[in-house]
Amino acid sequence: MNLDKLKTTDGIDVAGKRVIVRADLNVPAKDGRVADATRIERLVPGLKALVSRGAKVIVISHFGRPKGVDPELSLRPVAEALQKLIGQPVSFGEDCIGERAATVVNSLHDGDIAVLENLRFHKGEEKNDPEFAAELAKLGDVFVEDAFSCAHRAHASTEGLTHHLPSYAGPLLMEEINALRTALEKPKRPTAAVVGGAKVSTKITVLTNLVAKVDKLIIGGGMANTFLQAQGVMVGKSLAEPEFNATARDILAEAQKNGCEIVLPVDAVIAREFKEGAASEIVAISDVPFDAMILDIGPRSISRVAKVLEGTKTLLWNGPMGAFEISPFGEGTFSLARAAAALAKEGRLVSVAGGGDTVAALNAAQVTDDFSYVSTAGGAFLEWLEGRELPGVAALTR
Ligand code: AMP
Repeated sequence: MNLDKLKTTDGIDVAGKRVIVRADLNVPAKDGRVADATRIERLVPGLKALVSRGAKVIVISHFGRPKGVDPELSLRPVAEALQKLIGQPVSFGEDCIGERAATVVNSLHDGDIAVLENLRFHKGEEKNDPEFAAELAKLGDVFVEDAFSCAHRAHASTEGLTHHLPSYAGPLLMEEINALRTALEKPKRPTAAVVGGAKVSTKITVLTNLVAKVDKLIIGGGMANTFLQAQGVMVGKSLAEPEFNATARDILAEAQKNGCEIVLPVDAVIAREFKEGAASEIVAISDVPFDAMILDIGPRSISRVAKVLEGTKTLLWNGPMGAFEISPFGEGTFSLARAAAALAKEGRLVSVAGGGDTVAALNAAQVTDDFSYVSTAGGAFLEWLEGRELPGVAALTR
């Protein structure tokens, strides 16, 4: 996959053309209302640009995980939220293919916008059924893929459509890819990655890919326990996966081969109970009592990692350093988030973070805006870190 081949619609004339935009309108909703409009807000500038160039804009997306048609998962409320944010009428098509879709699309004038109903009301979407993709394609002249967060799935609306229509990368997709390329492919060195979270088993490919690419790999969270255990450290009742000790040793050996320095915690915040306000202590990593759990990295580990960050030019971050949702086990994650954000703000560090929990942790530490780029694309972000080709992106480079 040659990412230099990605094209945007910048050089083409979209006036009078029906432009299908695959967006990610899968927003958090409650009681039939949009609960968090961030994803819609981010889409607005790109849609406005198409409108001002005279395109007929047709927005398609999935919403939730319906099994067939499910009124609870209609995109209508999302279309209404988009209408408010964009400040112009947005028509709604009660289906994404067939007559009901065509009627709405045919009524569009240049510069008008329509949102079509949830793609996943049709089985053909997730099956990447060529007939379903062909039905979608009838509604447009040009296809713009602007949902990076869905690009790790080969669905009709992410991959299938590219076989039928001239296909382009949208501005949000480009932004995401550029940020990830800056961090992984052509980074300013030295580079470091922070990988945390619960389990090694869910991030083996991420870790293996990163040790071949970055200069330093900082491991925290529950997964650090498995690495420590693999080196003979007693981790008491901590979350750990002894069955992955050998895998952890393989990753450590791979790191050494590639000249990647692994940074593991040297002290920890421990507790006997996994609950809000539990009594906690700070101990050296070699002194974890048999009946205690490691729930965060300790102050000496924080200083050590902060020092690594000082000497780093590019940072990639996925996963918290501890059980940050539960006080007092968030300090490791929050301190490092603040340290990375401060360096990024001073222009000394390019910092790219992603993943659901990581975004929540950065928001809780109130530093999201200071990071160079924060990806909200959970699965697609992780698959990119694994070094995998994303079908929705690869299709645009053909
Ligand atoms: P992940 O989805 O793999 O990124 O894992 C995130 C989860 O890992 C968060 O909910 C954290 O609370 C949890 N976590 C991080 N460190 C620990 C730890 N030391 N012990 C237990 N859970 C942890």
